Amino acid sequence: MRYISTRGAAPILDFRGATLNGLAADGGLYLPEAWPTLSREAIAGLAGLSYADTAVEIMLPFVGDTLTRAELKALCDTAYGRFSHAAVTPLVQIDEGQWLLELFHGPTLAFKDVALQLLGLLFERFLAGTDQHLTVIGATSGDTGSAAIDAVAGRTGVDIFMLHPVGRVSDVQRRQMTTVLAPNVHNIAIDGDFDTAQALVKAVFNDPDLSARYDLSAVNSINWARLMAQIVYYFYAAVRLGAPDRPVAFSVPTGNFGDIFAGYVAAQMGLPVARLIVATNVNDILHRALTVGDYSKGLVQQTPTPSMDIQVSSNFERLLFDLGGRDGIALSAQMAGFESAGAMRLTNAQSQGAAALLSSERVDVDSMSMAMRWASEKAGQIIDPHTAIGLAAAQRAGLDVPVVTLATAHPAKFRDAVERATGVRPELPARVGDLFDRTERYVTLPATKAAIAAYLDGHAVRT
Ligand SMILES: *Cc1c(COP(=O)(O)O)cnc(C)c1O
Repeated sequence: MRYISTRGAAPILDFRGATLNGLAADGGLYLPEAWPTLSREAIAGLAGLSYADTAVEIMLPFVGDTLTRAELKALCDTAYGRFSHAAVTPLVQIDEGQWLLELFHGPTLAFKDVALQLLGLLFERFLAGTDQHLTVIGATSGDTGSAAIDAVAGRTGVDIFMLHPVGRVSDVQRRQMTTVLAPNVHNIAIDGDFDTAQALVKAVFNDPDLSARYDLSAVNSINWARLMAQIVYYFYAAVRLGAPDRPVAFSVPTGNFGDIFAGYVAAQMGLPVARLIVATNVNDILHRALTVGDYSKGLVQQTPTPSMDIQVSSNFERLLFDLGGRDGIALSAQMAGFESAGAMRLTNAQSQGAAALLSSERVDVDSMSMAMRWASEKAGQIIDPHTAIGLAAAQRAGLDVPVVTLATAHPAKFRDAVERATGVRPELPARVGDLFDRTERYVTLPATKAAIAAYLDGHAVRT
């Protein structure tokens, strides 16, 4: 399998290269040259497979000859063996035609564990026996950071530098990052919002001096391997609800568009997905893009769903590329326009292609709280605010097929918001129970590339 950049001017890589590089050298994002497809029989054959075995079947075409089936299986067994639920991502029915897919049973209680536990192992596997040293740098609005740090902490050949916006992640989220004291973990609080932190990471990647000095890699959802790992649970859930004979819809609390893009890929691979609902909070750039073709940045508003408080969705570029005839030159010009003006229009092909599969809903704080209350009172489920955005969107969509809302975080990660809406204060699960007794370690830096560069020079391993 060969990987190409959305901007058409970066080297073509194999799966190992795309995994270790993350962001493409031309500023674009890697994706497979063509989507592999599964026949109806192959999809039917997934019924009854364990999560790890499903993962092997779905991901094998993407890894090409960089891993054998047995190697991939061993990595999946290790990654998904760290989940606290035997089903890894259990499906829970909450109403007639409505399900929750619980993606938060990993080590840091966030859906991002599903992909990052595997990514950490892929790094280790691909670096073993080389003298390459990877400098992973990422920005997090909350859950990515802790999940990435957990996945990489203590692994040889890798350092991780994680930027979070100061004061804009929950205490639980911050402590899950800053209490990991492994020497290869470097937490940086940035004086700015998440988009600023993410722009800084992009600026570091696009700086020729820094990328010559360090072997930089990304763990944000711009890394293809993460998206690949997320495709698996769309198949896993749909097959349990009757695919390939019965189509299924998904409602996805969306921020950076990684999770929902994995659903889009599942559909391209042949999974009968009736509809993908992009659920946003009031930071609604995607809702505006999908309803009226206007992809333009607003100001980031802080909400009880910080993992969705963004105004630029990196992975949306992958969708625009795929829907726009995979024309890297045209997309490059379109993105350059967006980067200078902060706004762009979708082309007709992009808008129409998106509308065929994707709908969107913008859910405000009141509707979010109502969904949390409904889940608590009517379904006996305590859900987190992000999941509530997804559920509110699913209930509003009024579809006549089974709808699966992706439950992206454990409610205990957002205890105050959950308690405000439901009156119930969720307990931290035992595996993170002593979080507030642990020592924290992090530095606070101004939101400038120079400050990040100086910090890297003091702490990162040169190539
Ligand atoms: C990251 C995250 C999201 C958004 O996922 P994207 O892939 O960035 O769209 C939603 N909910 C939670 C809890 C998250 O951590």
